[in-house]
Amino acid sequence: MIANRGEIALRIHRACREMNIKTVAIHSTADANAMHVRLADESVCIGPASAIDSYLNIPAILSAAAITNVDAIHPGVGFLSENAAFAEIVEAHGITFIGPRSKHIHCMGNKITAKKTMTKLGIPCVPGSEDPVDGIKTAKDEANRIGYPVLIKAANGGGGRGMKVANSPNNIEEAYTTARRESAAAFGNEAVYMERYLERPRHIEIQIAADNHNNVVHLGERDCSIQRRHQKIIEEAPSLVLTPDERDKIGRRIVTAICNMGYSSLGTMEFLYEDGEFYFIEMNTRLQVEHPITEAITGIDLVRLQIEIAANKSLEITQQDIIFNGHAIECRINAEDPYTFQPHPGKINDYHQPGGLGVRVDSALYAGYSVPAHYDSLIAKIIIHGSNRQECLMRAERALGEYVISGISTTIPLHANLLLDPVFRSGEYYIRWLEKNYLKS
Ligand code: ADP
Repeated sequence: MIANRGEIALRIHRACREMNIKTVAIHSTADANAMHVRLADESVCIGPASAIDSYLNIPAILSAAAITNVDAIHPGVGFLSENAAFAEIVEAHGITFIGPRSKHIHCMGNKITAKKTMTKLGIPCVPGSEDPVDGIKTAKDEANRIGYPVLIKAANGGGGRGMKVANSPNNIEEAYTTARRESAAAFGNEAVYMERYLERPRHIEIQIAADNHNNVVHLGERDCSIQRRHQKIIEEAPSLVLTPDERDKIGRRIVTAICNMGYSSLGTMEFLYEDGEFYFIEMNTRLQVEHPITEAITGIDLVRLQIEIAANKSLEITQQDIIFNGHAIECRINAEDPYTFQPHPGKINDYHQPGGLGVRVDSALYAGYSVPAHYDSLIAKIIIHGSNRQECLMRAERALGEYVISGISTTIPLHANLLLDPVFRSGEYYIRWLEKNYLKS
């Protein structure tokens, strides 16, 4: 059962089809005509449009699993993919959860516990508070100890929400109160913690895969520094700033840590990288939206791997087998105005997807499809692979130019312009470059 929607549901369906595994799609009433529903072997409507009543509705999903008698559930990304209680309930019903054990999801779901765990395992973290910061006095003391500017972050945060910067003692109270309020509203938990606010880091994350038999490999990094509101817009692999030696060193440290944790499944360790140093920020215990760029440069199907691990198979690859080939870039295309970023759902009239050598499009769109207003605005990902970055950029430019999605606004023009920007082309960007320099100019 694929407990998700959109392009990622289709991605999972495709891996299953190639593995000769039958699929059950679940969907809300708003997604009755979605592509993953059309292609799946069976489908079950689990509720109305609102995600809380459908894709987040655990009893409805489990009922659908029971009546279709599924062996395993893939949670996709977002929704219940990092919900430890869901993983536990699925397993308690004798169904395999395609992901890590619930205790690991739980441990990494709280970022304070995640950082403590990683510190113990020898992974460098962003300097900050070791415990939840409770009260304004503690916040001030901690900020003085860490040094300004500081970032106040939601302990249970995600999607870049519940984060506030304090530049000096003058705005610490306001930042603390706002972060707590936003955290309570978004995550139902007001716990916050503090970190040194890094000024010009890159976001570099390392993909790992671990089986149930203590075999662990890393599949290199993805540079996700082109961000808006802490959300990724373009990702590249490999990163332009890492040397093979640095990659090897951080990769080994991570593999040892993951091994010692006893973790199994796919996972991503997210770091900020500044002045040659890595600082762990969080671990995602699921498939990532940007996983295809790793697939492009390694030739490994990560969803297949994830399913095989869940089926208790041993990894067939060792670290020596993982060879990085060429360069890959992913552009995330949203149903949004490319200048104001206002969501723009609606009916697609004409649709034409780019193709050709090195071009992959992960999308569930088709002509006549209506993008519903109820969910995330990501509608397509263009993944480009070339023998080097130069070729990749040329190909990306060409592919974006071919893409026709008419009837709604999309962020294709933003990507087309960004790819031509001299700073982007030079690779000398950092996590705030897009917002501070590019979008403002
Ligand atoms: P979320 O789970 O909400 O995505 P993360 O901890 O992964 O939160 O951080 C998301 C993004 O926020 C990072 O990619 C980075 O852009 C920014 N960020 C997080 N921590 C820091 C920090 N200590 N200093 C500067 N920027 C940060």
